[in-house]
Amino acid sequence: MSKEKSEGKELKKSLFSSRKNAYLRMKADEIKKCDKFCEGYKKFLDAAKTEREAVEYTVKLLKDHGFVEFKPGMGLKAGDKIYVNNRGKAVIMAVIGSEDIKNGVHLCAAHIDSPRLDLKQNPVYEDTEMALFKTHYYGGIKKYQWTVIPLALHGVIVKADGSKVTVTVGEDEDDPVFCVNDLLPHLAQDQMKRNLAQGIKGEELNIVIGSRPFKEDDLSEAVKLNILNILNEKYGITEDDFLSAELEAVPAFKAKDIGFDRSMIGAYGHDDRVCAYTALMATVKCKNPKKTAVTILTDKEETGSDGNTGLQSAYLKYFIADLAAEFGTEGRTVLSNSECMSADVNAAFDPTFPEVMDKKNCAFINYGVCVTKFTGARGKSGTSDASAEFVGKIRRLLDKNDVIWQTGELGKVDMGGGGTVAAYIANLNVDTIDVGVPVLSMHAPFETVAKTDVYMTYKAFSAFIGQ
Ligand code: MN
Ligand code: MN
Repeated sequence: MSKEKSEGKELKKSLFSSRKNAYLRMKADEIKKCDKFCEGYKKFLDAAKTEREAVEYTVKLLKDHGFVEFKPGMGLKAGDKIYVNNRGKAVIMAVIGSEDIKNGVHLCAAHIDSPRLDLKQNPVYEDTEMALFKTHYYGGIKKYQWTVIPLALHGVIVKADGSKVTVTVGEDEDDPVFCVNDLLPHLAQDQMKRNLAQGIKGEELNIVIGSRPFKEDDLSEAVKLNILNILNEKYGITEDDFLSAELEAVPAFKAKDIGFDRSMIGAYGHDDRVCAYTALMATVKCKNPKKTAVTILTDKEETGSDGNTGLQSAYLKYFIADLAAEFGTEGRTVLSNSECMSADVNAAFDPTFPEVMDKKNCAFINYGVCVTKFTGARGKSGTSDASAEFVGKIRRLLDKNDVIWQTGELGKVDMGGGGTVAAYIANLNVDTIDVGVPVLSMHAPFETVAKTDVYMTYKAFSAFIGQ
């Protein structure tokens, strides 16, 4: 009897899947490396709250590491490092490999736009001696989460004469911040009857920007005038200049460790800057790869990847074509032989909301980088479903390189779902798989990730493009 039982135990050990928390699998020195890596990540989060800032940060880092701007026809050889800046909102970088490029490249793709409140083109108004900005939210948000938190304003204004001013207010300790007000509970009995989606409506996301009137008797809209006067003195702009501006209100707080054990990071914009940073760091540290390593940090994922800086645009295809031409081959040949890690966050299991997850098929924090065979909604609509062969290849690669990884679907089958840029890359005839970091409170102003998962994602990219 006892012999049978121990046989069973042995069998179980060899046949059942067993996964453990990363902290129980990592050695002390690796945990130290992980913590150090995450300090760099927090700095990136604070410096790059918008896609434009992420590109600026990236291009500077690339230049520091010897990357040069790619000019078609410039002539390339193994070991060369290049980048292309797409309109200051997306960037492609590459480390040229030693193998013939017609055998394909290793692609990593992540997005650097995050949900936020954009200003409308006619944003400034005064109501009852308060000045406010009208906003138009960007990406999928739970609107009520964006009220009563400090907001900073980031972006650019293009003036009538074509000159451009950059705006960042709310990040320095001494800067003022802004906020969207909410109703006090005492008077919210009607509002409280609205459902959560309607609790705060799109047209109620108005940002307070001032209350002090321009000092002159019997002047209408004196608070708005005072604000425009301040803006004119600081930036040389008039009200009409907002027409050609891109201003984004984002949470003003900085990235912080979460928990007494500091095992997690809370910040705005983990989705998807956590994959952007890890892919970027893997690329700058990539030395002499066999296959050319190409990393794309793209814009507009949160609104469906349309537009010339989103991955439904041809800019990636054109880049690969230009790259192929350098070596006398065709872009389509390179793409057809390429492999891609499409890097985006996945939903982490939250013990407070277990009902939306299939616990056997979802991602957990501290269980490593999440590999997702397919995304999409319900009957796998809008997905790229990686082949068993390609998943098998990635599985072997991760195991060989001691990357702690897990697999996870975005919630229960009928619950909803979501897509990533994977489908647009796979549509170019590239073997593509989704990988990324599990996130708690995704798309909230303050999202949470676990440090070990961030580090394992970095390790996964390093293994992939280091081949
Ligand atoms: Mn994302
Ligand atoms: Mn997202």
